[in-house]
Amino acid sequence: WPIFRTEGVTKVYDTGEVQVHALAGVDLTLFAGELAVLLGPSGSGKSTLLNILGGLDRASSGHVWFRDTDLTALRERGLTRFRRDHVGFVFQFYNLVPSLSARENVQLVTDVAREPMPPEEALGLVGLSHRMDHFPAEMSGGEQQRVAIARAIAKRPEVLLCDEPTGALDSKTGIQVLEALKDINDRFGTTTVVITHNAAIRKMAHRVVRFQDGRITEVEVNETRLAPH
Ligand code: ADP
Ligand code: ADP
Repeated sequence: WPIFRTEGVTKVYDTGEVQVHALAGVDLTLFAGELAVLLGPSGSGKSTLLNILGGLDRASSGHVWFRDTDLTALRERGLTRFRRDHVGFVFQFYNLVPSLSARENVQLVTDVAREPMPPEEALGLVGLSHRMDHFPAEMSGGEQQRVAIARAIAKRPEVLLCDEPTGALDSKTGIQVLEALKDINDRFGTTTVVITHNAAIRKMAHRVVRFQDGRITEVEVNETRLAPH
């Protein structure tokens, strides 16, 4: 069943001198349990759409449904609640607190979540059981990103949104990070949307969405990947 549905979504950034049309009418349906990848050149609108799906930003026009809730109708407080209760985010830069261990970085969010997993479990799921007490500076980029993924999944979000999680990593390390995301998607059915230029995602994704100039030009279903749950 659909978990996200957008209808005619546009986004115009008003920068003072010029208006940037980042999204020019996006209609997209994503299904619960899917792993979807957004592909396309830099500046084609992928991050803008991801931010709108996650309630970090608002569409200029159109509608964005999360299940039966139209996110475009929510006030700021409702959007904040939506993000907190339903969405985990992973970004290119890991944004870990340098003075806290891996475990403590994950604990920061589990302290405020409703039914969190123990930090140890979340770190175990991304293969970091042996790094719990290490600090960010003692870990490789790939390990730090996996801590960030553990932090994002520890509150058991239904949706995981990942904006270039492999952007700062070499391609082999990037594949390990993508495999961690696929593993979580397989295990928990967490609907996952990823922006990445790493080609390994093509085999892992159920749905491949291509962007060009603020529009979706192609949606491809990966027949070789088993349908989600
Ligand atoms: P992508 O993720 O595909 O690289 P983005 O969604 O980041 O594309 O950007 C789409 C367009 O919107 C680009 O032209 C970008 O420069 C512009 N843009 C993105 N964010 C902002 C912003 N906060 N203010 C102004 N323009 C922006
Ligand atoms: P990405 O790596 O996803 O393409 P960008 O480098 O385009 O991201 O953008 C990084 C950040 O800068 C984003 O938060 C985006 O909103 C903002 N941004 C992008 N383009 C512009 C712009 N032209 N003016 C202001 N902010 C921008």
